[in-house]
Amino acid sequence: MSNSIAQEVAKRRTFAIISHPDAGKTTITERLLLMGQAINVAGTVKSRKSDRHATSDWMAMEKQRGISVSTSVMQFPYREHMINLLDTPGHEDFSEDTYRTLTAVDSALMVLDGGKGVEPRTIALMDVCRLRDTPIVSFINKLDRDIRDPIELLDEIEAVLNIRAAPITWPIGCYRDFKGVYHLKDDCIIVYAAGHGHERTEQRRIQNLDSDEAREHLDDLYDNFLEELELVQGACHEFDQDAFLKGELTPVFFGTALGNFGVDQVLDAVVDWAPAPLARASHERVIEPTEEPFTGFVFKIQANMDPRHRDRIAFMRICSGQYQKGMKLHHVRTGKELRIPDALTFFAAEREHLEEAWAGDIIGLHNHGTIQIGDTFSEGEKIGFTGIPHFAPELFQRVRLKDPLKSKQLRQGLQELAEEGATQVFFPERNNDIILGAVGVLQFDVVASRLQDEYKVECLYEPINVWSARWVSSDNAKKLDEFKNKAMENLAIDGGGHLTYLAPTRVNLNLTAERWPDIRFSATREHH
Ligand code: GDP
Repeated sequence: MSNSIAQEVAKRRTFAIISHPDAGKTTITERLLLMGQAINVAGTVKSRKSDRHATSDWMAMEKQRGISVSTSVMQFPYREHMINLLDTPGHEDFSEDTYRTLTAVDSALMVLDGGKGVEPRTIALMDVCRLRDTPIVSFINKLDRDIRDPIELLDEIEAVLNIRAAPITWPIGCYRDFKGVYHLKDDCIIVYAAGHGHERTEQRRIQNLDSDEAREHLDDLYDNFLEELELVQGACHEFDQDAFLKGELTPVFFGTALGNFGVDQVLDAVVDWAPAPLARASHERVIEPTEEPFTGFVFKIQANMDPRHRDRIAFMRICSGQYQKGMKLHHVRTGKELRIPDALTFFAAEREHLEEAWAGDIIGLHNHGTIQIGDTFSEGEKIGFTGIPHFAPELFQRVRLKDPLKSKQLRQGLQELAEEGATQVFFPERNNDIILGAVGVLQFDVVASRLQDEYKVECLYEPINVWSARWVSSDNAKKLDEFKNKAMENLAIDGGGHLTYLAPTRVNLNLTAERWPDIRFSATREHH
């Protein structure tokens, strides 16, 4: 292992924010970028806002993706470290995308709205993080408003999310009485001053809760606060680094993203406590980030990021070694060598070509249809990273063209949009239908609108009798051929060329699987 690789890896922190829509993810992202000086004035990050708006609003906003996409992946320096922040769409119809993005991080920041506490999407996203025991830092937001009793919030985190909560700071009042937070270990008060949301300011600190200055600052909240603190110190867990790294305990911070207060403490916690890039499992062996040969996997593809250029970007997490401009990479699935002269890095609203990158970094590759989600790149070793699945869609519609002459554009559009992983396109063996499958209803509208904008194709959907799709494989070539002949009615090829069984009903699927014990019917698909 080379020294410089180890040093570069140790500097990196790659994390995502998980939260229920409206808890403050976009606002925190802005403040984090401000801290990394990636933007000069907070308020320039365009939120995709898929979360809260009606579909039509969302799609209008989606049209500006040239700008907003920069929020998918952001890199910025902070305290001698390099931070990679990955965005996760909050809307549940995009949960597949979120799932795969969370496979590319080493830790996560959970943001809760202090007035609301743990919400449904928080629970769902924590479940995903738990699959890999991802370490979680927690931030309770909106202290400039009325929040719920903080002790109750911590209890809720523990009970509902099944993780121990260790407060690092404790809030002094809230809403109009919000006076700052008390750092439990450092015995110091960090004073809140309203009106500094958009700038980085020096914060006033008062050492020692016993001091006259502290009494004066807390004023008539003082006695109550001491009482509450005693309760907290008696009842709450202490921070424990090992338990944090195992995903069993979360350090909790309080603040207001809007007021840019407390976010710096959270970022410090990520730098000080969250893991540097971790080792990754492949089907063949475990890859250490400090290994010299380059390896990485693609977890996300985005089509038409820059509408003027119709480009498609594959986002790759580097798992080991170093990317150098112009290097040749081995594309394991196709067996081809690709020279990569122009990998991209993303910096607030900018994207730029990059000279070098290291394990933990996310780089963007221009994709001309050859790269798929889940693909592994190496310097020649034939490995495949595990745990980046496609999920079988649960909703299906037949796609009909308004203008029959555009069928080529339709196929191309559907295929390219399917590469992003949120939808899947199926071509039945027995007729010329085109079937679109999705995990969330919203996807159908999004695809129709993007087909129109980006491919100039107008389409309609018709109901179709498909209950679910299963990817078909078998170790027995003869049985597979037999099955293909017998089950032709229900077989299709997906956009990636994989054989798929489209089951009209659950009963049909169960019966078919029983009748063909040599055939595998998989609800998820991973590359090998
Ligand atoms: P997201 O949906 O999680 O990305 O949430 P946003 O960052 O867009 O925030 C949702 C709403 O809450 C916006 O109107 C924000 O201005 C507001 N907000 C975010 N943080 C705070 C905060 O600390 N205090 C208050 N009062 N409002 C906040």
